Amino acid sequence: MGINVTNKEAERILIVGGGFGGVSAAKELKDLPVEVGVIDRRNYHLFQPLLYQVATAALNPSDIASPIRRIFRHQKNVGVFLGEVDQVDLSGQCIRIDGESVPFDYLVLAAGATHSYFGNDQWAKYAPGLKTIDDATEIRRRFLLAFEAAEVETDPEARSACLTFIVVGAGPTGCELAGAMAEIAHNIIPADFRHIDTTTARVILIEGGPRVLGAMSEKCSKAAHEQLESLGVEIMLNTSVTEIQEDGVRCGETFVAAQNVLWAAGVKASPLGESLGVELDRSGRVIVNPDLSIPEHPNVFVIGDQAAAKCAKTGKPIPGVAQGAMQGGAFVGKIIRKEFEAKQRSESSPKRNAFTYFDKGNLATIGRNKAVADAFGVKLKGLPAWIIWAAVHILFLVNFRSKVAVAISWCWTYLFSDRGARLITGKSKIAIKRPPKFE
Ligand SMILES: Cc1cc2nc3c(=O)[nH]c(=O)nc-3n(C[C@H](O)[C@H](O)[C@H](O)COP(=O)(O)OP(=O)(O)OC[C@H]3O[C@@H](n4cnc5c(N)ncnc54)[C@H](O)[C@@H]3O)c2cc1C
Repeated sequence: MGINVTNKEAERILIVGGGFGGVSAAKELKDLPVEVGVIDRRNYHLFQPLLYQVATAALNPSDIASPIRRIFRHQKNVGVFLGEVDQVDLSGQCIRIDGESVPFDYLVLAAGATHSYFGNDQWAKYAPGLKTIDDATEIRRRFLLAFEAAEVETDPEARSACLTFIVVGAGPTGCELAGAMAEIAHNIIPADFRHIDTTTARVILIEGGPRVLGAMSEKCSKAAHEQLESLGVEIMLNTSVTEIQEDGVRCGETFVAAQNVLWAAGVKASPLGESLGVELDRSGRVIVNPDLSIPEHPNVFVIGDQAAAKCAKTGKPIPGVAQGAMQGGAFVGKIIRKEFEAKQRSESSPKRNAFTYFDKGNLATIGRNKAVADAFGVKLKGLPAWIIWAAVHILFLVNFRSKVAVAISWCWTYLFSDRGARLITGKSKIAIKRPPKFE
């Protein structure tokens, strides 16, 4: 893959990752006479907070993903490149994309994070995590297929295992997945099956810590716990998973048979940070300076989920959330802009500020009319929190088409308790053990 230099005099700013951080950094450079290269291994920007809705058949993949090229169609100084960056060469001031070197004047790494199975990567096969569109459609496939398998299963034990769903990890993703799965099984699809009673499906949420949504206030955590239980989710707290197999999950002495296990318990930063040769934290995140640059290389920044950064005002670590990545992207974009403008005026570079994070609060949804919100000291639950959650997510979707598509899908689901994207894609062979019943 080659990145053409159209203007050899122009400064070249390379941004790795077209997620929340990368897009926000590139937008901040609008109208500057520089070359901005946004490089991503996927051709689309993904709105990860709504991925669980694709996994649970409420939304289609295209509702929450938008081509990066389209996002920058009016920003003429941006070139978008599809490719995987495999190395950063700091001494040569270049990155390598599929073995080819591309030089930079400034580099912004915003390559995000991936799942961590805490050293048990063999669990990935049985317990997929949720990070990409492929993960979401695979989870949707497994979830919907489980009901099809149960419908034609004659052995009660095997049928019960088909209808048992385990979610490991009770952070926002785990709670949202568990709530949506319970809602579908217990409220949305019971009338669609003839042999099975889908209201008997078990959704079990396993959490190693003492409460669900541990990063939110105790009040919100308690409200979320109650709302999950009201949907029929079984919650196991202070419980560590010790083994995940094809047929279930072991937690110490206890074994729970389940055909479907989902992993929402841990993340680690993109391995790209390792090639910088600077200090990383335990999750593989790059420990950055207060201005989000890396030690001894003021022209190289790391932002978003890939960075271990602290807020200069509070001293607290910046959380791995979309707001942290967007604010980090805008912050480094401004630094680059100011330094470029100073250079154009033949002035020395202005002093850089330290990054401060503006915490806009936390939201999590559990199901229809069920959510919690924790913002600016106000704690809400139920319908008011659900309305705020829905409005904020629609507001932050990257394009107008997605906003309209998501709003319409949600109105439909809300009014008719229907999930329009209940499609089993990919391989879906199941063993039919009894003749179909038609009424
Ligand atoms: C299921 C789920 C639910 C979430 N829910 C919420 C929520 O409700 N609220 C919230 O605020 N946050 C939520 N988050 C977290 C939020 O999505 C992340 O904090 C945010 O996406 C981080 O932005 P980023 O730019 O650092 O990385 P990302 O948005 O992950 O973008 C990284 C980009 O880099 C690309 N990339 C990676 N490696 C390479 C490479 N080597 N070469 C080229 N390109 C590469 C990827 O393809 C990707 O496009 C959720 C995350 C997940 C997974």
